Amino acid sequence: RSMSTVTIPPPACMLRPLEAPLRYLFGPGPSNVPPRILAAGAKPIIGHMHSEMFEVMDDIKEGIRYAFQTQNNMTISMSGSGHAAMECAVFNTVEPGESVLVAINGIWGERVAEIAERSGAKVHRLVKAPGGYFSNKEIEQAMQKHKPVLFFLTHGESSAGLCHLVDGIGDICRKHNCLFLVDTVASLGAAPIFMDKQNIDILYTGSQKALNAPPGTAPISFNDRACHKMFNRKTKPLSYLFDMTYLSNYWGCDGKPARIYHHTGPVSGFFALRESLAILAEKGLEESWRKHKEIAAYLYKGLEDMVCDARSPQDLRLPSVTTIAIPDGYDWREMLAYIMKHHQMEMTGGLGPSVGMVMRVGLMGYNCEKFNADKALHALQDALKNCKKSKA
Ligand code: PMP
Repeated sequence: RSMSTVTIPPPACMLRPLEAPLRYLFGPGPSNVPPRILAAGAKPIIGHMHSEMFEVMDDIKEGIRYAFQTQNNMTISMSGSGHAAMECAVFNTVEPGESVLVAINGIWGERVAEIAERSGAKVHRLVKAPGGYFSNKEIEQAMQKHKPVLFFLTHGESSAGLCHLVDGIGDICRKHNCLFLVDTVASLGAAPIFMDKQNIDILYTGSQKALNAPPGTAPISFNDRACHKMFNRKTKPLSYLFDMTYLSNYWGCDGKPARIYHHTGPVSGFFALRESLAILAEKGLEESWRKHKEIAAYLYKGLEDMVCDARSPQDLRLPSVTTIAIPDGYDWREMLAYIMKHHQMEMTGGLGPSVGMVMRVGLMGYNCEKFNADKALHALQDALKNCKKSKA
């Protein structure tokens, strides 16, 4: 046979149409994408270096500054999911051998600890059970002991359903010459965060939760302290793709007259992200926070009436993702499969240390409505009726 003969036939699956069912995405993300954002993502592609694209990127920077409540010049979106932002933050600010302190009260701190270890940092873990929280005093004591260059905290712990307090921690970090890195992937738009006022040095989020954009982009911002550290390194960051020297130029943040090709950004993803930030700006942060709080309270009440136990401490509950203790006598996998099959609704189990402890319901952004909370409660009720285990 000649070298130019096709021997592997077209796969049968490729000759069938794409299937993407309509589902209620009431898990911890992605959440449903409203038609307006889907439409923005369906606009014709333009070049990633066209002037119109740079305008879209400039709009995105403004939208992120509003959402983060910051005036930081160094504000961009990653071409990648929340993990890209996690890696970008750590890879750029930490050099091999440096000390990093990570607060772990669910899976996200553990992930960041691993990322920091991979970049050669000496990682110190401050660990609590899922849903636990840290006092400023404990954080300061650990900082005195380990003298980290970076301290990580998850604002919205989506695996544990907890929204951590942030006030005062930025000041402690300044006092100890440490950068304060905060993850708001699961909380941005749902619970208040004030990057500048709270002295947060690096803040990131994801597109697919309360912002309701498709997964695949992740806003991140660095203040001057963070820029000073990352642009005065002795070694190059581990990742070329996530190197802020290049990304800051690509996003027009480095003051240079020309933007130079670094990588091809996800054009449709950026269109959609722009639209999601526009919707948040139109609605207003205060209204978005208020709505999440109201609907989350309504959901907790409904759960209580069903004798389900919402897990995290009442005043620290995350308004975007609610963790529910698995009711006695039930198999959580069976309940979730039942809800998916009979209600076309995604809810999820725990993640990392909370697996087997909780089920999670997220009502974020566009999904954050009373009628959706009713739908979720109805589906849970139905599963409780039909999934009871005789043995348990
Ligand atoms: N941090 C938190 C708090 C999250 O909830 C998530 C996503 N579940 C991530 C980080 C990671 O984001 P992604 O899945 O977009 O990489």
